Amino acid sequence: MHNHDTIAAIATPSGIGGVGIIRISGPDAGKIARHIFLPKQKDCLWKSHHLYYGDIIAADGKTILDEVLAVLMPGPHSFTGEDVLEINCHGSPVILQAILAELVQSGCRLAEPGEFSQRAFLNGRIDLSQAEALAALIAARSEKARAIALAHLKGALGAEIESLRLSLIDALALTEVSIDFMEDAADQGVTEILPQLDKLLMRLQVLLDSYQRAKVYTEGLNVVIIGKPNVGKSSLLNILTGRKRAIVTDIPGTTRDFITDQIHIRGLPVNIMDTAGIRQPHDIIEKEGIDLVWENLAAADLVIILLDGSKPLTGDDQKIFDAVANKKYLIAINKTDLPLAWELSELAPDCKKLKISAKFGIGINELKGAIVAGAGAGEEEDSGEVMITSMRHKIALENALNNIKRAKENAACGMSPELTAFDLREALDSLDEITGKKINDEILDKIFSSFCIGK
Ligand code: GDP
Repeated sequence: MHNHDTIAAIATPSGIGGVGIIRISGPDAGKIARHIFLPKQKDCLWKSHHLYYGDIIAADGKTILDEVLAVLMPGPHSFTGEDVLEINCHGSPVILQAILAELVQSGCRLAEPGEFSQRAFLNGRIDLSQAEALAALIAARSEKARAIALAHLKGALGAEIESLRLSLIDALALTEVSIDFMEDAADQGVTEILPQLDKLLMRLQVLLDSYQRAKVYTEGLNVVIIGKPNVGKSSLLNILTGRKRAIVTDIPGTTRDFITDQIHIRGLPVNIMDTAGIRQPHDIIEKEGIDLVWENLAAADLVIILLDGSKPLTGDDQKIFDAVANKKYLIAINKTDLPLAWELSELAPDCKKLKISAKFGIGINELKGAIVAGAGAGEEEDSGEVMITSMRHKIALENALNNIKRAKENAACGMSPELTAFDLREALDSLDEITGKKINDEILDKIFSSFCIGK
């Protein structure tokens, strides 16, 4: 990407809307403003960050393309740090395209995805974690995901990383000093550095632990409904989603693939999956469907074991319990509108069983509550804790953690301080990848190319 030309893009989503916004950033933004905008006000001085009312005029000098509001934000006090022009026109794709074409005629280049944010980062307006937070904020699918992204945008993650970084630099300085000293001083350096590294490891682990909890709010909780054929899995999916997503019949084995849908339960995004019924497969298609169930279980945050209360339990139910032994699960007994065919105490006595009827909508609210609670989500107070949501950040933190662990082990068993210093420097590089202090262009381009155009 170039950083010295002037770029333009439609910043609002495609389609018809009340207002559409075009963004221009780069050295020619001011010149272009004077060229294509005809202000109503005679003495338009293009005061910084002032909104002006006027017309956008085509290259022929007379055709009016739209009546707009325009604002010029000269660098460095703009989002990108460069001169930025924003045109608020009417939200018609025809108008927006016509103005964009006019801008290209005037010398602008069409912006690539995320290029405005990339320029903001390259010009030091925001760090990389803040740029990523912008994309996460726009994509937030829950209130909590919005809150986490906004905290990152305000610099919370950057500040935490900077604080870790400073402690790491302290430890590194101590290590480097001991390289130059005699044995006694070196020993003293080691005793000082070990508790520092322990503290760092603890703080990194806290950040890493937040990933699993935060992921539920950003990507959604993966819930898999599992049970024998005909216990009411498809009926349950339908009542939870409020849509007729899956076919309900009394012919066993109708769901041979898996069906996923997304719902929100108490503000939490939930990806809910109906699966093929578990039994001895009758044909190859059913077998494939059942194999998929076991595969999908691996990615489940929570499993709903659905049992038919009106029919006796069988060995296939036991197979299901065996398969979810290491997962978080809850047991729902369906068809409780009919007489119960077995005693609930017969099964998993320590486990709570929810009595429901997917057909008649009984116990569904309680089940929704149990889904949220069973996943350990939905009850988190906003403690102001910094949480991480990005896999890139997680990997960088894990690398830092592993390097510090190795440094600690080497220091503790009296290895050369050079070795410890090397690992600490590697850890520092990993932290710098998060804020973008040290990162290669290829990774940068990859990060920004996943942004939307105009951001
Ligand atoms: P699946 O094979 O597990 O997906 O089960 P379905 O949702 O297709 O339901 C199988 C049969 O059980 C259908 O005839 C449903 O109408 C019936 N069924 C589902 N839930 C209930 C319920 O709560 N009570 C009663 N009486 N029948 C139900």
